[in-house]
Amino acid sequence: MADFEIKDLRASVEGRQILKGVSLDINKGEVHAVMGPNGSGKSTLSHTLMGHPGYSVDGGSVMFKGQNILDLEPDERARLGMFLALQYPVVVPGISMANFLRTALNSHRGYDGKDKSKAVSPKEFRGLLKDKLKVLHMDDSFLSRYINDGFSGGEKKRAEILQMAVLKPEIAILDETDSGLDIDSIKFVAEAVNRMRGPNLGVLIITHYTRILEFIQPDFVHVLVDGKFVLSGGSEVAERLEKTGYSEWGHAEETTPQEVA
Ligand code: ADP
Ligand code: MG
Repeated sequence: MADFEIKDLRASVEGRQILKGVSLDINKGEVHAVMGPNGSGKSTLSHTLMGHPGYSVDGGSVMFKGQNILDLEPDERARLGMFLALQYPVVVPGISMANFLRTALNSHRGYDGKDKSKAVSPKEFRGLLKDKLKVLHMDDSFLSRYINDGFSGGEKKRAEILQMAVLKPEIAILDETDSGLDIDSIKFVAEAVNRMRGPNLGVLIITHYTRILEFIQPDFVHVLVDGKFVLSGGSEVAERLEKTGYSEWGHAEETTPQEVA
């Protein structure tokens, strides 16, 4: 049995079925890439896995640590060790990045405002962030800014990866963390993710373009078209897409999955 097992997942949005039976086994230590044309259901997959209330599960299961996580609330999924880096990070004026990250970390550690021994100390928190900010080429001033408020596209995506680095998930889903990034930001994000790679982390990288896969080498690549996987394999699948795009599955407009920077 895999560490994280998606079985025949079917989900709909606004009454329309989008995921039509998705199955995928992810083990810790593995990096899986999911590629697909726009509208194929990639974000629906990420939102359904994390428990977004706008997406309804019509069938299937997702087993992680002996539980069907589809029965859990999003915060319970997060505390169990799941993380989602959003394709479109949300602006939250009034709450600083530092406050948010510290509260999220405390919550992960089971601090409920009472047992102070579980809370992260200011000193530990600063130490923890220092390295991670450096790898992502973010300076301290980020921490005092409101969540994503006035952040550039690249800063928002880096802020998502900073959250991941702080929360240390066991299963991380990165939904188009590369889209809209300039090449330097892609490299910073890739380096941060590569540093987190290891036997305690399974990664699902969702992407439209092959470019980020030059920097984060996936062990497996899966092609999602119209809510179903149509092809799975190793990195050679990404190379094939690089040449032919998604046209062989009837997406002629998507000839080469290369981003126009
Ligand atoms: P991808 O991430 O692969 O581009 P999505 O999962 O975002 O694709 O979208 C798949 C399909 O579901 C699209 O046709 C999209 O319009 C539809 N969809 C996604 N989210 C919503 C929503 N909140 N309301 C209505 N339709 C949605
Ligand atoms: Mg998407």
